[in-house]
Amino acid sequence: MATIHRLEPYIQPLNKDWYKTKVAALDILRLDVVHPKVSGNKWFKLKYNLEYCFQEGIKRVLTFGGAFSNHLLATAYAAAEYHIQVIAIVRGEELSEGSSPTLAECHELGVTLVFTSRSDYKKRNEKDYQESLAKRYDAFVIPEGGANEFGRKGAEEICSYFNNTYNKVLVSVGTGTTFAGIRNALSDSVFVEGFAPMKNGTYLTEEVRPFINKEEYTIYDEWHFGGFGKHTAELVQFMNDFYTANEVPLDHVYTAKMMYGIQQRLLEDKYSDTDRLLCIHTGGLQGNNSISDQLVFW
Ligand SMILES: *Cc1c(COP(=O)(O)O)cnc(C)c1O
Repeated sequence: MATIHRLEPYIQPLNKDWYKTKVAALDILRLDVVHPKVSGNKWFKLKYNLEYCFQEGIKRVLTFGGAFSNHLLATAYAAAEYHIQVIAIVRGEELSEGSSPTLAECHELGVTLVFTSRSDYKKRNEKDYQESLAKRYDAFVIPEGGANEFGRKGAEEICSYFNNTYNKVLVSVGTGTTFAGIRNALSDSVFVEGFAPMKNGTYLTEEVRPFINKEEYTIYDEWHFGGFGKHTAELVQFMNDFYTANEVPLDHVYTAKMMYGIQQRLLEDKYSDTDRLLCIHTGGLQGNNSISDQLVFW
């Protein structure tokens, strides 16, 4: 059985001066340390997909992503460990393997990059489209972001790294796969808050509902900083200040927006002094390559 060389996640308390002791505890689960590329939640979402392929003798997977996709790079590394080939359907027919550091690295790892028009890419979650791709490339299809049953099952395991002393768990939301897995794995007495990094992200509240068996959750979308993948000077400053206070590097696409939102909610007294909060650091640090010259920790 293939094994990814991974480090164990751990829980780190944040600096009390940073959260001004407005809550009883504010800790962060460091999934970012698991692997430099298969980081954070991505490994958990891929694990059962790849194990299924390994057991069934499937030699090729096909998945989807944009030019800066953490999921594509994580799939490239994780699948290589299982000696499974990767076909990546990449959004944007005008792109090439030189278009981003992420695509270049995928290409070096032997991923077949298939550059696809935006209109075709829109069909990525349609059953017929996936079936035709599966046939054409003789591959097992892993949906974008690892958003399937195997992905949610793997995400549930994130909860095995913390105990039931936390009454609120906070996580960034892309496809909502990680969020759904975490929500399902925890008891009703725990409230799960999601932070969407894109505009109008509360559509995710309905999108995840069919996959969630509990009611206690909310998804916020105020802290998108212009939209998915976008950032501002203020967000970068926040990342640098956060690192200085806590020695935790954040990524600008997901976790920085979540932590910024948490800080806003602390400032607005949205949490009580008995709350014990756990933030999930879902990784994604490879994405910081594109803004490395602005970061104090990169
Ligand atoms: C992919 C990613 C997410 C989103 O995960 P979903 O399961 O798709 O919601 C969150 N944070 C980071 C750092 C990611 O790379």
